[in-house]
Amino acid sequence: MAELPELEVYAETLRPLLTGRSVTAVEVHHPRVVRGQSAEPFTARLVGQRIKDVVRRGKTLAVLLGSGDRLDVHLMLAGEIYYFGPGPRGSVPQPVLTLSLDDSSALIFSDEHFDPMKPRDPKMWAGLNRKERIGLDPLDPAFTPDALAALCRRNKVLPVKALLCDQRLIGGLGNAYADEILWGARIRPRRAASLMTAEEVSRLHAAITAVLAAAIGHLRGLTKGAPAGEPRREFFKVHHRSGKPCPRCGGKIAFEEFRERPTNWCPACQQ
Ligand SMILES: [Zn+2]
Repeated sequence: MAELPELEVYAETLRPLLTGRSVTAVEVHHPRVVRGQSAEPFTARLVGQRIKDVVRRGKTLAVLLGSGDRLDVHLMLAGEIYYFGPGPRGSVPQPVLTLSLDDSSALIFSDEHFDPMKPRDPKMWAGLNRKERIGLDPLDPAFTPDALAALCRRNKVLPVKALLCDQRLIGGLGNAYADEILWGARIRPRRAASLMTAEEVSRLHAAITAVLAAAIGHLRGLTKGAPAGEPRREFFKVHHRSGKPCPRCGGKIAFEEFRERPTNWCPACQQ
């Protein structure tokens, strides 16, 4: 699932390609993608609009439009982004939303797991000006060790992994990068955030910064100028590596369900 590093790289690669372009057509392939609205007014509000900028808000890709509207796209578990320049378009696994632009380019959102017959499954969505409370952004200069320490103190009962993944507290991190960050900080996922020492909070802050910077660097190399689906994250140290040796201590990487999410960590070197 795309988290902060993927969305950051999607936004920075799409920005020069989309800024200044106008939307000429919108195809909503599955009406459920525009959650709670019908496709017609959504489409009518987008067509003819000029794109002013493309930014990331937490785990959401936001396309800023000339009218002041903002198209928010949340990829959820399996959503992916494909950009095709002018000319023939390549194939996309399962398109759910297509924006055609005035230079004959297209931005296509795809979700292989999208099943219109299962409305209860949360799938990727697109909406205009969605209201979401997004917490501190880890790439924002305001995200200091002191700010993280204050968040940890305020959320007394939260295990640290839950704190990292709560979008209302910290915007952009999810299950996979939280595992990587906690491994980097040598802190176990269930450690109570408010009981961490100042030294642990400082290690956690350093790991957040380092893991995100390294991932963004890797993903820039893999994305090569335009998004064509989600790059494979083969640089993970613990996430999706159950039973394999820990790259730091050689211990066996454990798996457990934590708040209904698969969690990997090294019991030998994460305290
Ligand atoms: Zn280890």
